[in-house]
Amino acid sequence: MGTSPDLYAVIGNPIAHSRSPQIHRMFAEQTGQDLRYERLLAALDGFDAVLDDFFAGGGMGLNVTVPFKLQAFERARAHLSERARAAGAVNTLWMENGELHGCNTDGVGLLRDLQRLGLQLADANVLLVGAGGAARGALGPLLATGCRRLRIVNRTESRAHELAAAFATEGGARLEAGGYAQAALDAGWDLVINATAASLQDAAPDLPADLHAPGGLAYDMVYGAQPTPFMRQALQAGARAEDGLGMLVEQAAESFRIWRQVLPDTAAVLGAMRAALQNPGGAAAPDAGKR
Ligand code: NAP
Repeated sequence: MGTSPDLYAVIGNPIAHSRSPQIHRMFAEQTGQDLRYERLLAALDGFDAVLDDFFAGGGMGLNVTVPFKLQAFERARAHLSERARAAGAVNTLWMENGELHGCNTDGVGLLRDLQRLGLQLADANVLLVGAGGAARGALGPLLATGCRRLRIVNRTESRAHELAAAFATEGGARLEAGGYAQAALDAGWDLVINATAASLQDAAPDLPADLHAPGGLAYDMVYGAQPTPFMRQALQAGARAEDGLGMLVEQAAESFRIWRQVLPDTAAVLGAMRAALQNPGGAAAPDAGKR
């Protein structure tokens, strides 16, 4: 009789939509790792109980998604990585010597995807739209790239100022904050990142026109089968536009590396995920042929 595979899961609410199981299954196949990866739905007030049950039952690691990243941070407070501390949130948990550890891989996932897209961030002008958890997770890694100017703009302007104040001493970039109107001042952004949830409501943040530098990139952290409204606006303005599927795969790869000490090759997995997104019932669907 063989041993049972190591157990991992993603916890959130809602969770049925999560693509993490497909991604991690592909990573495991590719790297020859024997593991199972499931979805865990926790009630909004039930995160702690589900987490405790999972690890008491021999679970090895958890990915954490909306709305539990702050609670995961609190639970791993005794053993947080630098990335988790900077982000103020945890999306990756694991048990080591009976103690819970936490990291945040969203920021490094974003940076690796931008690298894949060939973006040079040294000396770049970057506009970060949004001031929630995803923007916060991205800010430290973005400031560490050597970008020249980084401006955070948010629908609720005060949150942009709070976020900028929390990172004021990091990196050499000029760090600024404001409301959406400020996005237009000295525009000519090499990179505009949409870190808001607007695309989930099929809307674009209400930004001024003429934001992009020639050849600039508009990057939406949300992904889908079609370009998001934010991406469509950018394309009409002559910029390049990309969605956040690559970030999703890259943040998952970094979680996998933390858990299994091997970094998977993300290119093939991203290709399969993209094909599955555009052709949900097709042969390329990662779940096709399984259960
Ligand atoms: P969050 O903490 O709830 O923050 C939400 C942000 O979106 C806030 O800045 C909020 O502005 C803004 N917002 C919400 N609805 C808006 C609208 N209709 N118009 C303009 N701004 C709006 O969420 P989060 O964790 O930062 O996540 C943000 C997005 O990033 C989500 O859509 C998530 O799916 C995505 N994400 C993707 C990845 C990936 O791997 N691709 C990873 C992490 C997150 P206010 O402050 O004014 O409310």
